[in-house]
Formats: sequence, structure tokens, C-alpha cells
Amino acid sequence: MPMHDVPEVPEVQWGQVFEKHGGPLTYKSIPVPKPGPDDVLVHIKYTGVCHTDLHAWKGDWPLDTKLPLVGGHEGAGVVVAVGEMVKDVHIGDHVGVKWLNSSCGVCDFCMSAQEPLCIAPQLSGYTVDGTFQQYCVANAGHVARLPKSVPLNAAAPILCGGLTVYKALKESNARPGETVVITGAGGGLGTLAVQYAKAMGFRTIGIDAGEKCDAVKQLGAEEFVDFQTEDVIESVKRHTGGFGAHAVILLAVSEKPFQQATEYCRSHGTVVCVGLPANARISADVFSTVVRMITIKGSYVGSRMDTKEAVDFFVRGLISAPFKVGKLSELGKVYEMMEKGQITGRYVLDTSVSPEDQEKMEE
Ligand code: NAD
Ligand code: ZN
Repeated sequence: MPMHDVPEVPEVQWGQVFEKHGGPLTYKSIPVPKPGPDDVLVHIKYTGVCHTDLHAWKGDWPLDTKLPLVGGHEGAGVVVAVGEMVKDVHIGDHVGVKWLNSSCGVCDFCMSAQEPLCIAPQLSGYTVDGTFQQYCVANAGHVARLPKSVPLNAAAPILCGGLTVYKALKESNARPGETVVITGAGGGLGTLAVQYAKAMGFRTIGIDAGEKCDAVKQLGAEEFVDFQTEDVIESVKRHTGGFGAHAVILLAVSEKPFQQATEYCRSHGTVVCVGLPANARISADVFSTVVRMITIKGSYVGSRMDTKEAVDFFVRGLISAPFKVGKLSELGKVYEMMEKGQITGRYVLDTSVSPEDQEKMEE
């Protein structure tokens, strides 16, 4: 590439930082990180806000985060620098930064292309600084390749939400024409799950709060169950001729659905746990689980190959889940709405700064 095409990378940038769990989120000027030999530096244009980011800020899980931390792991942007060992990603390429920032490459799981199970992973916006900043470092082997034809704002939610639900639907072993229940269908992952399920040929029943019914049905769900006003188990059975659903994808950030799902799952069906509510337990009646041959399993993001496939569905125009665009400075407000379950679909944040903020930074 001729020298004049190499983008100028600033020394400082804007990012959202917190020092302690549940402590203030500060939108401030921070240094631009430097990529290592096998990393790329990505100018993040848009970043989705996943409920995982809220769990990380609150310190909900039995896994330590880096502190202070820049959260975020659904970043879409443009490569502005590459480490000296990077050969297949170039300055100017459009890429996505995912939850799995890097993996060791040599453990049993990495060797069998199950890199989310790596024994020494780095996680974006958790163990390393993530996408709630303008410039983010990620391992070149792990960034998602995005064609320049797709808009980066709509692509951002695919990089965690889309990938995760696509993988969970594959793990459900459901076949085209079978019925899949999506619990938490109106949320970020849920709205994407309804769309991926439809594209994969499944029939879906969405479960969420009543105000999200119209959106979930418009995305392709055949039936909707309001968890706040209906008997969820009875309703799913009614919609499935008394048999229950072939598979259940649990995306809700609440414990109760993890204790109900086997009861509305069809015999020989599969319950896939994806949502990660704090301190929650799965429970099921042993007798019924055995004699009805129910499978209960977890599903955790997806591999690089799953990423490629999930991005492909999006590039082919099969996935268009709702998203709202805000500014990176508004992250705190988005967390408040998310906590109350008020967001239908995803919030995507634009990292560009207003001229006023820019002036302040230069002072
Ligand atoms: P979100 O806040 O956008 O959506 C959650 C939805 O669940 C909301 O629409 C809410 O109304 C609904 N809900 C709450 N209680 C419910 C109930 N009892 N029944 C049905 N619906 C209910 O969150 P999100 O970004 O979609 O993330 C969902 C969960 O998935 C989070 O816990 C997140 O950490 C987790 N996650 C897991 C993985 C993974 O790899 N396993 C990846 C990404 C996210
Ligand atoms: Zn996520």
C-alpha cells in the first residue's frame, strides 16, 4: 500500500472506562493501544451493547475481569494498523471484534476448532479492553471478516448476538419444520434468534414481555407467549398440539425460565442454555427428564467457522433484526434501559465524537 494511504492513528481517543464493578462509567480520553505482532488495530465505528457487558460492569459472574476496564465485544470497524506477523488482514479491511479476542491455539480445544473452550482465552471487554472505545486491539486470526458491502452498524450485533444464537440453534439439533421456543425473544439475542431460526427453516414460538409481541411476530415468530400474564408451560403445549417444542433456546436474563423449560420441551427434545443470569441454577425433575429423554446443554458463542457462517446469513440479506443507534457517550443510559428490559432488539453505539467533546479533549 502506498504511504499516503496509511491512515493516521491518533495517540489518544475516547472510551468508556470503569474502575470498579458497579462504579461510575466514565467517558474520557484514553491512550490508543498498540497492536502486538499478531494483532490488528481496529478503528471501531459501531459497537453493539450486549447484556454480557452489563453483567461484566456489575461483576455478576464468578470470573474476574480486568480493572480498570473498557467493555464491549460487538465491534465493527476498519483496520488501521497490523502487527508485523499479520499477513492475511490488511489496512482498510472491514472486520468485526468478537468476545473471543484471542485463543492459545495449542490446547486440545483450539486444536479441534472449539476455540471458545480454549483454556487460556482473552475475552474482549472482559479480560482485555473491548469495543467501547474508538480503537481496539484484537488477534488477527480471530477478527471476523466483513465484506465492504454491508453497513457496519447493522453488522455489529451479528458479532456476538448473531453468532451466539446461530450456534445455539445448531446445537439444538432441531430440523427444518420443527418448532423452537425462543425465551427472551424480544431482546438483543432473541430478535436475532427469531430471524436465524426462520432462515434455518424452523418454526418459532417467542416468549417475552407482552409489549414485545408485535416486534417478535413481525420478525417471523408464529406464536408469542407473554411470560408476565400467561402460564408459559400451558401456552407452549397448546401451541404445539400438546407435545411441547422440539427445542428451547434460553436467552432470558432471569432464573425462572431455566427451571421451567424442560416442562414445555417435547420428549426427546433439547433445552439449550445461553443466557447467564447472576447466581442462577438450572433445575429439572429427574424422573420426567429421564423417561422423556430430554437433553439439557449449554452453548457458548461460536468458533471462527461458526462466525463465518453467521456473517454469511447476514451478508445474504436473511437477517435484519431491529437496532437503535446511539452515541458511545450514552452507554450508561443504555444499561439503565437494558436492566429494566425496555430494549426491543439491540442498541448500537456510534463511536464518533461531537466537535464539543473533541474540543474538550484538545484542551
Ligand atoms: P437483553 O437484555 O437484550 O434481552 C433479554 C430479554 O429477556 C429481554 O427482552 C427481557 O424482556 C427478556 N426476559 C426477561 N425475563 C424473561 C422471562 N422470565 N421470560 C422470557 N423473557 C424474559 O439481553 P441479551 O443481550 O439478548 O443477552 C441475553 C443473555 O445472554 C445475557 O445473560 C447475556 O450475558 C447472555 N449471552 C450469552 C452468550 C453465550 O455465549 N452463551 C453470548 C451472548 C450473551
Ligand atoms: Zn455478547
